[in-house]
Amino acid sequence: MAKLIDGKLISSQIKDELKAEVEELKAKGVTPCLAVIQVGNDPASCVYVNNKKKACAYIGIESLSFELEEQISQEELLTIIDELNHNEMVNGILVQLPLPKHIDENTVIHAIAPEKDVDGFHPETVGNMCIGSKGFLPCTPAGVIQLLKRSNIDIEGKECVVIGRSNIVGKPMAMLLLRENGTVTITHSRTKDLKEITKRADILIAAIGKPKFVTAEYVKEGAVVVDVGIHRNENNKLCGDVDFDDVVGKVSAITPVPGGVGPMTIAMLMNNCVETVRQ
Ligand code: NAD
Repeated sequence: MAKLIDGKLISSQIKDELKAEVEELKAKGVTPCLAVIQVGNDPASCVYVNNKKKACAYIGIESLSFELEEQISQEELLTIIDELNHNEMVNGILVQLPLPKHIDENTVIHAIAPEKDVDGFHPETVGNMCIGSKGFLPCTPAGVIQLLKRSNIDIEGKECVVIGRSNIVGKPMAMLLLRENGTVTITHSRTKDLKEITKRADILIAAIGKPKFVTAEYVKEGAVVVDVGIHRNENNKLCGDVDFDDVVGKVSAITPVPGGVGPMTIAMLMNNCVETVRQ
């Protein structure tokens, strides 16, 4: 029987640990404060932003909300970010992506001060992660590492295969597995003989963005499978990049969707917010 890696449980344990830590910090007069910027009111972004604010409230992190109209110019947005960069009360800045088409996401990401970059997307933050220096880790890949560690799954020396090479998931995922001493292969849409490579994996991470792409023939008997994907199917039910029902009988451990990687992303964002004030 495959072990179900319970992201809901592990994320709530992390949030409880952070809540206790924030109580101690508050007793010393320190309260972390996150500025959350949303441009427009895309329904999915509204859900994500609300969940982030709720997690802040639960842990005791102060959150400042900037709900900006869709038409705001890039210059105006950059001015707000610049003010928040210089505001000593604000420890972390989060700009909910995606942004409207007239705003260049890269310019906005570059504008956030690296010491307040709790999403971990600024090039300086990415560079620090790559060379193993101290700094924020990108939330979704860091959440995957926590899922594995807290489920007592060793990464050291394991064949780790990542499907996907996006800047937000695939590439940083590979770097973090490498930092944990995994032997890492990155695969992508131009990879030849994908199944031959994924079948080598002791730990297979799927971040493809294609519903139920990974079937049993992509996985080795006894592998650990982590599904980063998140989709709504034709019946409005959530599913991942992995065909869970097809794969579950073959693997030793697997993350479900929902309740796997998803809740970990917010928990790790909260960890980064607390990190801004850790001594
Ligand atoms: P993306 O579209 O930016 O990247 C997808 C990657 O998959 C690309 O690098 C591409 O090369 C690769 N790919 C596409 N087709 C392939 C194929 N046929 N064979 C091999 N590789 C292929 O997506 P992303 O932002 O990295 O997100 C991936 C998935 O994770 C999406 O479903 C997204 O919704 C989900 N996601 C979940 C969370 C979370 O918190 N759970 C966070 C971020 C993203």
